[in-house]
Amino acid sequence: MSTTAPQRIVLKFGTGILTKLNAPEPDPVQLRKLVEAVALLKRAGHSVVVVSSGAVASGLKPLDLTERPTDMTTLQALAAVGQTHLMHAYENLLRDYDLHVAQLLVTHEDLENYDRARRVKTTLERLLEFPQVVPVINENDSVAIEELRFGDNDKLSSRVARLWSADLLILLTSAPGLLRDMSKPEEGPIPVVDDVDVVIHHAQEEKTKLGTGGMISKLRAVQDAVNGGVQCIIASGRHAEQLPEVVAGGGVCTRFLVKR
Ligand code: GLU
Repeated sequence: MSTTAPQRIVLKFGTGILTKLNAPEPDPVQLRKLVEAVALLKRAGHSVVVVSSGAVASGLKPLDLTERPTDMTTLQALAAVGQTHLMHAYENLLRDYDLHVAQLLVTHEDLENYDRARRVKTTLERLLEFPQVVPVINENDSVAIEELRFGDNDKLSSRVARLWSADLLILLTSAPGLLRDMSKPEEGPIPVVDDVDVVIHHAQEEKTKLGTGGMISKLRAVQDAVNGGVQCIIASGRHAEQLPEVVAGGGVCTRFLVKR
């Protein structure tokens, strides 16, 4: 269905689409394209919340590291350094569109606690009363390690989307959507999925065909979101320029419908 009505949209930017294709640190060109897409969506009247990873990746250069470490404590330390660099990058890029970043660092535990989750929601709502503000949410990696360990904020994005009663969650990935077979990207993504449960079952059995656990983590996040009434889209983060079209009902992507 094609629609241009204002929507509440959560955009999830994973580390894989914030970095260069062949290097672990953030790519300023890619960040600019993503920020431009956010600005376009806001200009079209949509309410936009970003869930962004990239703290660990942004900490590599300041700490003179060339590759991602494997131990959890160093990852947490990197995230502590990188988070400020990441926010600085967003602030600088958003300024060109007269927009400002608002940083929210949360944990899954926060969102499971009724009072804290309500506080996050009301803060988010208040921030969005200011049209010049773009809330950017990340896991608070120095106190929680869920997303560092597995998921890269997929689950966090579906929780935020449900908490905020978003209309749409868009997971931007390195793939153009959900492919039937990763070895045949030329076939293009499956345009619409009516029942994500069936797809997850299939994905678990055909892990190699559908790629790594990365896609399964995304499908689980989709499952959580659609169960909470949030329509989801998986689309390429390398083609952020198509986001307005995707939101309007077109573009190259996979749409996951809410079960009625
Ligand atoms: N919250 C983390 C980040 O922003 C998760 C991604 C990761 O493990 O690199 O960097």
